[in-house]
Amino acid sequence: MMMKKWLTIGALALSLSLGSAATRADDAPADGGAGANADRIDIDADSFVEGSLYFVVYHELGHAMVSEFNLAVVGREEDAVDGLATKLMTPDEDETTPDYLLGAMKSWFLFGSMTKVNDIAWWDEHGTDSQRAFRIACLLYGADAKKFTDIADTVKLPEERRARCEHESQMNSTSWDTLLDEDSYGDEDKVAEDSEKPEITYEETSKFPDQEAYLKKLGLLEDIATFMHDNYKFKNGIKFTAKECGQINAFWSPGERTLTVCYEIVNAYQTLAKNIDTEE
Ligand SMILES: [Zn+2]
Repeated sequence: MMMKKWLTIGALALSLSLGSAATRADDAPADGGAGANADRIDIDADSFVEGSLYFVVYHELGHAMVSEFNLAVVGREEDAVDGLATKLMTPDEDETTPDYLLGAMKSWFLFGSMTKVNDIAWWDEHGTDSQRAFRIACLLYGADAKKFTDIADTVKLPEERRARCEHESQMNSTSWDTLLDEDSYGDEDKVAEDSEKPEITYEETSKFPDQEAYLKKLGLLEDIATFMHDNYKFKNGIKFTAKECGQINAFWSPGERTLTVCYEIVNAYQTLAKNIDTEE
């Protein structure tokens, strides 16, 4: 039986109209400093869009790993795969600025600043948008407190959380390393000779031709397909699809073994990036 469950990046079906006036307290954005944090993260529009999209696809790759390798997950899977995306996107020692992770953080803070208190889906399987942004900051800070102090300062990550970030980051990293153990899933030398990269399809779209062209030029899906193929032992037959979905989303469909990126989510980040540019 085909699994209908989708594991998604989250409920991004939000209004992209920035700055709509809030008239009542319970109609106000659940800001908690999210808007100010988004403003303070200073990156260019390209890094914002690219970083946000890479985070989204690494997040979905995490869901793919969980279902394809039958990984044990304790706690919320959504948090776990956000952790994987952050781990994979944390700069190596010789890289300095984690622009792509800053892009992802900025977009989660922006979404957090735009969601009204009454619209927060408390029942959702994801953390709130702002929590997801703060967790990235914590995992980064925990990975190298000296190197990433500026980032923790920028988003005003409180000392009481910072004190736990090193442990949280180590747990995240070693847990994924254990799950993706070399003997089982992670040794490049053991990739079967006949293993194939995921097949990538860009479906035709009348509404989002620019987003289709942008995705192709960025090469995000090709990049992550190569990363998957070279580092993990996925069984053949996985598909990557970019298409018009009728919603702002990206998702992994376990039954169809397909990772889908909707042109709408590309458009959403591009639209947000334009707003960032006009604010400056
Ligand atoms: Zn998800």
